[in-house]
Amino acid sequence: SDRKPQNLNDIIEALYPLIQAEAVLSNKSVHLGLSECLPLYLDEKEIRQLILNIALNGLEAMSLGGKLTIKTYSADDCVTLEIQDEGCGIDRDVLEKIGTPFFTTKDTGTGLGLAVCYSVASRHNADICIQTSDTGTTFSIRFSA
Ligand code: ADP
Ligand code: MG
Repeated sequence: SDRKPQNLNDIIEALYPLIQAEAVLSNKSVHLGLSECLPLYLDEKEIRQLILNIALNGLEAMSLGGKLTIKTYSADDCVTLEIQDEGCGIDRDVLEKIGTPFFTTKDTGTGLGLAVCYSVASRHNADICIQTSDTGTTFSIRFSA
């Protein structure tokens, strides 16, 4: 791990063109809602991978199009990253298994994306929280500042 103090918003802004380019290919859009955050002790490559894995899952979940929103906010010495999609949601039986290496519901999925996210979060002492319904899913990753 190669952690140093840096701003989460800078990492998101640098990744935005890549996620946006992926979204427009299938008539989806990406919106940023970044608010001022305290610097965090982050491994930039790992955090990039975490954001990308969750964002791409969100885009893949919106088969009929929709909006992906990436937000940051600070409260109580914590910085939270939220990635919200307007997809199909995650069924309860699937929710229990996600993050288990090689678990996928996709024909050509690796089932490794979220497993990587959980290890990255754990190395950063961050929590991942998932809220899901049939109108979409929000992944919240909470870091201690
Ligand atoms: P993969 O994308 O290769 O399938 P992941 O670990 O990234 O592997 O995701 C595991 C599974 O979790 C996916 O196959 C999918 O069923 C479910 N999933 C993850 N993110 C979402 C999401 N935003 N909306 C709906 N389902 C999701
Ligand atoms: Mg994935």
